[in-house]
Amino acid sequence: MINVISISLENEMDLILAHKRSMRMAEKLGLTIATQTTFATAVSEIARSVIEHTDNGLLEVGIDPQNQRYSLMALVSYEKEIELSNNDEGFYYAQKLVPEFNIIKTEQGNQVEMKIGIPRSLKLDKIKIAALQLFFQNDEPINAYESLKKRNSSLHKIAGEQEEEIRRSRFIDEKKNEFIAVASHELKTPITVIKAYIQMVKASKDECSDRLKGYVEKIDYQINKLTMLVQQLLDVSKMENGHLVYTMDKIELNGYITDMVSVMKNIIPNHEITVSLCTDVEVQIDKLRMEQVFSNLLGNAAKYSPEQTSISISCELLEDQTVKIAVSDQGIGMSDEDRTSVFNKFYRTKEVVTTHAGLGMGLYIASKIINDHQGRIWVESEEGVGSTFAFTLPYQLNN
Ligand code: ADP
Repeated sequence: MINVISISLENEMDLILAHKRSMRMAEKLGLTIATQTTFATAVSEIARSVIEHTDNGLLEVGIDPQNQRYSLMALVSYEKEIELSNNDEGFYYAQKLVPEFNIIKTEQGNQVEMKIGIPRSLKLDKIKIAALQLFFQNDEPINAYESLKKRNSSLHKIAGEQEEEIRRSRFIDEKKNEFIAVASHELKTPITVIKAYIQMVKASKDECSDRLKGYVEKIDYQINKLTMLVQQLLDVSKMENGHLVYTMDKIELNGYITDMVSVMKNIIPNHEITVSLCTDVEVQIDKLRMEQVFSNLLGNAAKYSPEQTSISISCELLEDQTVKIAVSDQGIGMSDEDRTSVFNKFYRTKEVVTTHAGLGMGLYIASKIINDHQGRIWVESEEGVGSTFAFTLPYQLNN
């Protein structure tokens, strides 16, 4: 059937629509008034019988192009559990009205099919049928109820489309995560092998020029950077899959920060790092994961500020039983808009995209680690002046 009209059969108000729309369709085809009335009556009788049993029926009116001859056709669908019988007056009466009346039973449900032949003299063709479809698509609602129904159905359609969109983007996201997980895992093996060879070269007693030694140092430096990036990729994929696990230890904060800073001083030798500690407290942390946070914040402070400027670390005990640790630099800073986004996955400010290497994963991972330690992380910043990244951790006073 070439569908022209669809009406969901939910309540008595739909009977009026079923009747008026079937009548209109027959009229538009140029059928006689008697045929219009007969068809519309048969359709609304079946619709009534269905509505008596369910609020989940469907009426479709259209053209059946079979057997070289067009017929006006109505198809009423309802659940397969519902049995319409001749005891039902409307059902019995409708059979008498239309020349072709069939009941179709399938696994999906039952249908009543009614057809009235369209005389050839009316010269119906595909173009006229398309015009008919367009007419009913754009026809003004018959009453306020139909206008509400139309609005509802377009809302449903939009909701359906949005659901589909979300489903599709979830699928793409899953595939991307899968790819990141596999790629970072595959990259790890050759990197480990290269690192092992570099260590062997460095440890070797063989004769080697200073120039070659310099090259080896450079390879070592770049491989370390690559290792960090691959580790970040692995962490992101673990985070997405909810597999980031923590080994928590109770440690004294001041000693931990002092150790961290002495390691970082070797990694960022061209900045002055100053530390201002507070009363020593105990914190419950995963030492390696927290090291990642420090290394990211200090590494960024150095990366996004001129050499020879200073980076300061400060601690402060807050009233809510947390300790605030802040890392401040005298670097490029960032706009207010960027401040709200820098902790998002893969976010990089437009100022640094072409000037500094990076993937925008470090702060995303750091914020996840801090959140998983029941802390908060944020940034205060002024463009051209510098940034302060601060985070909190719950603490206990030392005994
Ligand atoms: P990456 O540094 O690899 O790009 P991050 O997640 O560590 O990734 O940082 C995200 C972005 O936040 C950076 O690209 C940069 O634009 C901005 N940013 C981070 N730290 C600083 C900082 N100390 N000063 C200015 N901008 C920063």
